[in-house]
Amino acid sequence: MSLANKHRPQTFDHIIGQWHITEILKAQIAGAKDSHSNYLFFWPRWTWKTTTARVLAKAMNCLNLSSGNPCNECVSCLTINKQSTLDYIEIDAASHTGVENIREEILDKVPYPPTHLKKKIYVIDEVHMLSKGAFNALLKTIEEPRDNVGFILATTEIHKVPETIISRCQVFNFKKVGKEDMTKHLQHIVKLEGLNYTPWALDTVVRISEWCVRDAIKYIDQVSILWDINEEHITKFLGIASESIIKNFLNLIKNKDRDAIFSEIDAINEQGVDMHNFAKQTLMYIDQYLSEDTDFLLAVSEIFTEILGTIKYYPYPAIVYKIAINKFLNPSAPVEIAIPRPVQTQAAEAKAETTNTKPVAQAWDSNLLAQLLARVDKPSLQKNLGEHIIIDSVEDDKVHIIVINKLTHTLLEKRENLEYLEKILSEVLNKPITLKVSFEKKEDYFWRKLTTNN
Ligand SMILES: [Zn+2]
Repeated sequence: MSLANKHRPQTFDHIIGQWHITEILKAQIAGAKDSHSNYLFFWPRWTWKTTTARVLAKAMNCLNLSSGNPCNECVSCLTINKQSTLDYIEIDAASHTGVENIREEILDKVPYPPTHLKKKIYVIDEVHMLSKGAFNALLKTIEEPRDNVGFILATTEIHKVPETIISRCQVFNFKKVGKEDMTKHLQHIVKLEGLNYTPWALDTVVRISEWCVRDAIKYIDQVSILWDINEEHITKFLGIASESIIKNFLNLIKNKDRDAIFSEIDAINEQGVDMHNFAKQTLMYIDQYLSEDTDFLLAVSEIFTEILGTIKYYPYPAIVYKIAINKFLNPSAPVEIAIPRPVQTQAAEAKAETTNTKPVAQAWDSNLLAQLLARVDKPSLQKNLGEHIIIDSVEDDKVHIIVINKLTHTLLEKRENLEYLEKILSEVLNKPITLKVSFEKKEDYFWRKLTTNN
């Protein structure tokens, strides 16, 4: 069983960071007030929606309540936990959007009294996904409250829930779990599991999970196989860099030693750090220490924002870092690197360029490549060319293409394919063209471009 399931909260007291809600619910249940109340749970980014709903459903039915908490031992609690009763129904509205489903699930069955439990409970998760008709059906049902039926609605987008529904429910706004609560919770779990941990490692897990409890537990679960939640394992298994790596990296940037920065990028990448995460982590670090070196950190934050925006499109993250940092260190350098992009993007750019005034020297590259790719109608070529060729230069009647993929290169070595592309390029450029094709490893190509600008 995963740690997240194993440590799923079973009582109100175990739902961390939501005391403002759980204390009220406990008091209501213990005092048996609002016995025919319906509930609407809202949290923009909520992880334990159905878990909380289940605790509430158990509390409303428990035969052996303890200060408002369900006992998890009586027959009612057990059947809800096992979901082995027809009186407890969880519906995911994201998959039951039609009014017919709701009618079938709720309207037709609501009039019948519960068979096992005191109170029949319907949990409708992501309730905002219901269609208008489904909302009307639901409204009709909750307008006539019954003692033996209860609705627990949950949503991440309360603005999409009709006012008429909201006004008939007790609404509870869940809040983001605080760092302290979350750290305490993780400590509690790792202690129960008999795992060793360092405070840094737990703290990092809290940060990278962006305060999402379930994600944090999932990370702990992944590393728990090694019994030690420490810096080394976190880096190795979750691809997370330690704070010292980030600090050191920012220092290198501050010293503007490009060679040292570039080899550190390679080193971090080779250690298995997830470079996408690294940009995020660095931004979080900057946010945390901003007051210590405000001007520099603000300036440098732009690098990582740029990296975050582009990194997911490119297969070689280290290159993205190098390009962004190079630009930062040397803003006036004329180095612009044509990174191959998906065909669609290029076509869109080619279109945009007709209205944009881009430097002529670059315009032919993406334009020409886009036009070439748009005209290739041999499926085998089309599939392979897109992200694997770069038009390196166009001089008079000679076009030089660099291929960064071995298979594509083999394809282009075939005389007929070469002639086919020559024909297309001749049409596009409106003159007879000779094509030169050479193979170069992608990293080598970018590196050459970056360092020599030719
Ligand atoms: Zn019970």
